[in-house]
Amino acid sequence: MSRILIKDVTKAFGDVVVLSHFDAEFVDGSFITLLGPSGCGKTTMLRMLAGFEKPTMGEIYIGDQEVSSEKNFVPPERRDIGMVFQSYAVWPHMTVFENVAYPLKMKKMGKQEIKKLVDEILEIVHLSQYTQRVPSQLSGGQQQRVALARALVAKPKLLLLDEPLSNLDAKLRDSMRFEIKEIQKQLGITVVYVTHDQLEAMTMSDQVIVINKGCIQQVGTPTDIYRHPENQFVADFVGKINFLPAESKNQKLTFKHSNQQIPYGGDLIGDVVVGIRPENIRFVSMKGDLTGTLVSKFYLGDVNDCRIDIGGELIRVIAEPKSFDTCKEGETFNLRIDEFMVFKDSGDDFHT
Ligand code: ATP
Repeated sequence: MSRILIKDVTKAFGDVVVLSHFDAEFVDGSFITLLGPSGCGKTTMLRMLAGFEKPTMGEIYIGDQEVSSEKNFVPPERRDIGMVFQSYAVWPHMTVFENVAYPLKMKKMGKQEIKKLVDEILEIVHLSQYTQRVPSQLSGGQQQRVALARALVAKPKLLLLDEPLSNLDAKLRDSMRFEIKEIQKQLGITVVYVTHDQLEAMTMSDQVIVINKGCIQQVGTPTDIYRHPENQFVADFVGKINFLPAESKNQKLTFKHSNQQIPYGGDLIGDVVVGIRPENIRFVSMKGDLTGTLVSKFYLGDVNDCRIDIGGELIRVIAEPKSFDTCKEGETFNLRIDEFMVFKDSGDDFHT
């Protein structure tokens, strides 16, 4: 019913192209995240889905209906979509009940029906006991849930969320992530969620679309994009990573700065960049893949965050504290690499 199809959509403001040849299909009932740095075009895509902007080229289908072209254009109020934006803008002079009831009043629904639907959704977002409060008597997280309830009360086919958690503190963000996901599962609704926060994308999504400079970089599950990024941008954007320049030759990778070598069964040859996630490097007592000297270690409670000099370059290693509680700076270690990825050298500069 609410399958979304975005077909070769390009959007320009004047001469400036902000989204280029965007193709995507969102399965009914799934949680999709548009992830990318500030200015990459995420909000513009969401606004086109909502009907606040029209694509310069391409088509958008909601269900079987094309909604975005000049000829078929469906305005926002007839798209059956709920929306929550960063500044969640609940109306301060209205009670929780009135805020949530508002969209239904606009639809001229009867009082009893409104009460039934509002009670239902307030139960789902755990606000049943706050119906008569005004927003100033609620916490930030509760206000955000009012906005969510208001967006959901008319049972839209599609929910668009644009950085809805960015005004909340870290702890609240954590619990709201979980709650939004639970609500989405419970209602079986399709959600398109915009964020630049990779943790939000990883924890909630069925599918993540990574965007940079208006172009899709990769579409995949959180595991796909974390473990099998298609390029250096994605590898860098969705987690911590060491990038080491290397030469690939005779099934070996030789790191350019340290001259240390590791075996490689892949098919890229010549100048490459090896990507290694800090948690995929372990300290071992036997011979490892690399040797290195501990330069610094920060105890973070659940892990140690270390910098190791492997000869001419520093790598970051995230290790369980137990595995080397007694190790001292300046000591030399054998390191085992459990997993790595190899990219063609793009010449771009990335910082870990
Ligand atoms: P952020 O995370 O900062 O919100 P974003 O990825 O959502 O960024 P968009 O808001 O989609 O990015 O903006 C993409 C680009 O389009 C930006 O360079 C922005 O300045 C530009 N842009 C957006 N709306 C307009 C407009 N109405 N007129 C001109 N340029 C615009």
